[in-house]
Amino acid sequence: MTTRDPSRRNVAAGDIIIRQGEVGDRAYVLEDGRVEILVTNADGRVYSAGFRGPGHLLGEMALVDRGPRAATVRAIDDCMLTVVSEADLTRRLNDADPVLRLVMEVVLDRFRETLSQGAAAAALPSVTATPRDTRPDRQAEKPLGALERLRMAADLRDALDTGDLSLRYQPMVDIANGAIIGFEALLRWQHPRVGFISPDQFIPVAEETGMIVAVSAWVLDEACRALSRLDTAVATGGRPYMSVNFSSEDFVADRFAETVGETLAATGISAERLRLEITERVLMKEPDRAIETLRSCRDAGMSVAIDDFGTGFSSLSYLSAFPIDVLKIDRAFVDAMHASAKSLALVRSIIGIGKNLRMTVIAEGVETAAHATQLAALGCDQAQGYYYGKPLTEEEALARLRAAGPPSP
Ligand code: C2E
Ligand code: CA
Ligand code: CA
Repeated sequence: MTTRDPSRRNVAAGDIIIRQGEVGDRAYVLEDGRVEILVTNADGRVYSAGFRGPGHLLGEMALVDRGPRAATVRAIDDCMLTVVSEADLTRRLNDADPVLRLVMEVVLDRFRETLSQGAAAAALPSVTATPRDTRPDRQAEKPLGALERLRMAADLRDALDTGDLSLRYQPMVDIANGAIIGFEALLRWQHPRVGFISPDQFIPVAEETGMIVAVSAWVLDEACRALSRLDTAVATGGRPYMSVNFSSEDFVADRFAETVGETLAATGISAERLRLEITERVLMKEPDRAIETLRSCRDAGMSVAIDDFGTGFSSLSYLSAFPIDVLKIDRAFVDAMHASAKSLALVRSIIGIGKNLRMTVIAEGVETAAHATQLAALGCDQAQGYYYGKPLTEEEALARLRAAGPPSP
């Protein structure tokens, strides 16, 4: 849908601008002229509710609820109007500074509350287009209200400084022998008042407000430092890689590959040991830019994994267009694999696609020996899930590496 900027409209004296009872989707700013507001009573009698002159806003409720108009507005003189459509307002809000948008949403939420107390409890459209998580098993949590998101963003900014963020490291194993070959860094937030907040709640807020760039930089730095400490502590162990999640906001930031490279250099981790996890959505947002960024990362030696593969509804053709090394099968498919023939077929197909394109395939959410056996039989290379280990603290990860000893030659 295309939306236009506010347009001007001339109305001749005597014309009806707004008709009572019709459903509105626009408001008018009266620039010039005079109007009369007329209300028709339940018994059909019409009375004048007053006059409005230049500078007044008419029919503003329509910007919020597209509800039926409460009055008729008639031009007394020739009038000049600026038209503000609901679609235009929504588009502008979506383009606006994220904080401004959230504030606006809070204000409109309040307006909605006031209205609903007055029994006009119509379902109002949401002002922002917060992307819904399309992954099948990830819609359980109630979406946060605008005020909660605004508060959360502010608290998250503080958390970066106060040390309330930490990482867990979930083992990724070679499915053939169960040996740990890497870890995925997963973010945890222990809020001083609220307690534990799931990343499924706060990552979307961090993305929406642009804070994710600072958060991701912190995660990458901390994950590389942890990997370096693990190297020192387990001198005889293998050299596990570190998988770090990134969002589209990270990818469109200037100098992404360079910034990551600088962190690697500062922490002494070679680029070959960093795996970037991104979702299909990240690639689709700005494909040309994503290709360029991924190439630079790849040229530097990092590898790229597509996370939650199979849930992004995007065309398969992008798989050959983007420089991708690893496909990560979403845990929803693994979970349903034994109960549903379709899911099993999907898992088999994804592994087939990955193999044909010479990519490594890793399954996530592997919870049972039966999952592991099935996936290995289908040709999956790597696995991650509670069967092999939950996300671990650094100490626990260290213990696991020590217990495993040096890798077999
Ligand atoms: P994800 O990247 O798909 O991460 C895997 C999630 O699956 C993790 O949840 C992990 O704890 C969970 N998981 C692992 N094994 C199993 C299993 O066997 N069964 C089940 N049912 N679940 C398993 P977590 O840690 O709550 O993270 C949720 C999501 O938050 C992540 O999904 C990722 O999208 C996001 N996230 C976490 N940390 C970061 C981060 O540092 N940066 C960014 N951008 N996103 C992050
Ligand atoms: Ca991930
Ligand atoms: Ca995943």
